[in-house]
Amino acid sequence: MGFAEENIVSRVFARHGLRLDPELSYGQVGHDPKHPYVKVESLIKTLEKVGKLHKLIGLGEACDTLQKAGPGLAKFWESFRHSNSGHEVFNGILDLSCCVPVYLHGDEGTTYKRDGVFVMSLHTPLGRGTLSNKLGRWDDSSGDPHTNFAGHSFETRFLLGALLREDYRDWDDNEPFHELVELIVKSLDDASRAGVPLVTGGRLFLIPIGNKGDWPYLATSAKLNRSYRNVPRAATSAAPCTGICHLCLAGRPMFDFEQMSDAPDFLDTMGAEIPWTTEASFTRLLMHDRLAQV
Ligand SMILES: [Zn+2]
Repeated sequence: MGFAEENIVSRVFARHGLRLDPELSYGQVGHDPKHPYVKVESLIKTLEKVGKLHKLIGLGEACDTLQKAGPGLAKFWESFRHSNSGHEVFNGILDLSCCVPVYLHGDEGTTYKRDGVFVMSLHTPLGRGTLSNKLGRWDDSSGDPHTNFAGHSFETRFLLGALLREDYRDWDDNEPFHELVELIVKSLDDASRAGVPLVTGGRLFLIPIGNKGDWPYLATSAKLNRSYRNVPRAATSAAPCTGICHLCLAGRPMFDFEQMSDAPDFLDTMGAEIPWTTEASFTRLLMHDRLAQV
């Protein structure tokens, strides 16, 4: 097991048109002054160059320019506004028909050598809908927005950076992990505020609408002081629990997190205390819903 298998995977991806060769950028990550990652701008330019921008936009094969995708994108934001009216994309500066929504996604996977690897990617919430939608052929899609569940994730997830676990596990507070996240978040922030010029005309703005991942990733990446990791392991524990929820103070000595009533004591502590000592890059840098912030 090792690089041989990974080379084979790489060749299979290339054969099926799933491999991009975007220009790489380099930044300081841990001991490495030139750690490679893909800037969001470089990803967008490469997708346009090879005729695959529609995979990122998610409105069908015909919607590969802003002119064609514009009405569908405007429709998406009109719906999104109902649940997230405080998002900074609605501040009146950006033309919503040029804004493509994306989720950041972090995950700790396993390499072929069975070691850990942290991977960061992005994807649009828009796509072919669900299997029960019966939307018909993707190439004559109407350009109306649908969810992104049908089809294979290999085609709609775009890698931005990766880091071997052995390169950050021995550091205090996973420093190299946060350095890589910061590089990627900054490049998404640039693409969302300045936009990326397209050859076919206009500027495409890639707008973050969320940071996805499992709880270990979310707790680490957001530098949460209060998370599931603090759940007491024994009925009586020497050190008082500092809290198990990033939204409220459940788990603290005064606030039993196992209270199952419809008015638990921790309810009044929602938003009472910020859940981090140092704010992570997501809310510090990226556009987000200010009304959802506690
Ligand atoms: Zn809570």
